[in-house]
Amino acid sequence: MIGIYAKGLNPREATREFFAELFGANLISSALLPARKAGLNQIFPALLSSKDSLDQTFPFAPVMPLSTAVQLSKITRFANPTNTVAVLLRPCESRAAVELVKLRQISLDNVLLITRDCPGTVEPETFEEKASDTLPGFSDFTEDDLRPVCRMCSYPEAPVADINIGTFGADAEGGIILEAKTEKGAEILKHIKLEAELEDTSARDAALKSETDKRTAYADKHLAELQKEVAGIDNLIKFFAKCVNCHNCRSMCPVCYCNECFFDSATFHFEGPRYEEWAARRVVLQMPRDEMLFHLGRMNHIGLSCVGCGMCEQACPHDIKVGQLFALISTIAQKELDIHAGMSVTDPLPLATFREEEFTEMGEEKV
Ligand code: SF4
Ligand code: SF4
Ligand code: SF4
Repeated sequence: MIGIYAKGLNPREATREFFAELFGANLISSALLPARKAGLNQIFPALLSSKDSLDQTFPFAPVMPLSTAVQLSKITRFANPTNTVAVLLRPCESRAAVELVKLRQISLDNVLLITRDCPGTVEPETFEEKASDTLPGFSDFTEDDLRPVCRMCSYPEAPVADINIGTFGADAEGGIILEAKTEKGAEILKHIKLEAELEDTSARDAALKSETDKRTAYADKHLAELQKEVAGIDNLIKFFAKCVNCHNCRSMCPVCYCNECFFDSATFHFEGPRYEEWAARRVVLQMPRDEMLFHLGRMNHIGLSCVGCGMCEQACPHDIKVGQLFALISTIAQKELDIHAGMSVTDPLPLATFREEEFTEMGEEKV
């Protein structure tokens, strides 16, 4: 089922109206939505228990301080919510949520997964600079303001959702396109007053294709340049030269979920004499140690689940293009194994189904 909703309203107002209907018809008991922090020009996810607070929500604010998939994990990981929680996610958040479902960090029981088309986001600082009493919208920014990972993101629409809120190809008269993607979503939409069914989806299909083509062209060029920049161990060391090994990139990564990270474990706790020994052997022991091992280990651990959201890069205090690098590595690795992170909750986890002979089948030489 696909139809036009709330013609005449802009996407923010139409989405608020949609959630108000969901609350009003008792179809949901709470909703996790991007909302303005009281008195501040920052947008963070907030769990609302009533439609009366919907005026504080900004479902289309072009900023993402963190991945809401992680917050959904907090809500569902230890026990399912008693009543239905609706969550609004961008495509990269939905894809991260799918990976976390596969890793048993999110349960979608009692969750209504609503996604929204995403034209991209800017850094929180860029967003705040443009904010005053009113918060800026997507049209207040130029293409160059967008985060590089957004310009390369090939998912303007989320692959997995119960209901998607479409804006690409929407009518010039306003409104949003609501599309049920699952039976659960279709059941919900039966209770929502659509203006009209969307019989002809060609305008939407064309708008999505044009957006995807534009981003793919940018990604092809940009990632090829990046690949040259990091080619060889010396260039990779140069790429991470400013890294202070703070692990912020890992902390903000939605698919890095281990309770205790190997790189914080006792394996990396060494006593003074060991440092003295290393220094004696090398004469100059550069500190902190192990930052390359950390990045290579993380690539190895999550490269096949990386959804290219760039939360790692946004969290880096030294502006290292770590999200773009992970996007590059994960694109190559996922292509090689013919998998795509975040496409289906029933896809098997590659590392759980890995066969020893797999790489030799792909042409790798046996040693
Ligand atoms: S990575 Fe993609 S889905 Fe995520 S914010 Fe950027 S454009 Fe949107
Ligand atoms: S490695 Fe970076 S780009 Fe990939 S999922 Fe984690 S935060 Fe997102
Ligand atoms: S956030 Fe930046 S500085 Fe910190 S470990 Fe990651 S890449 Fe290095």
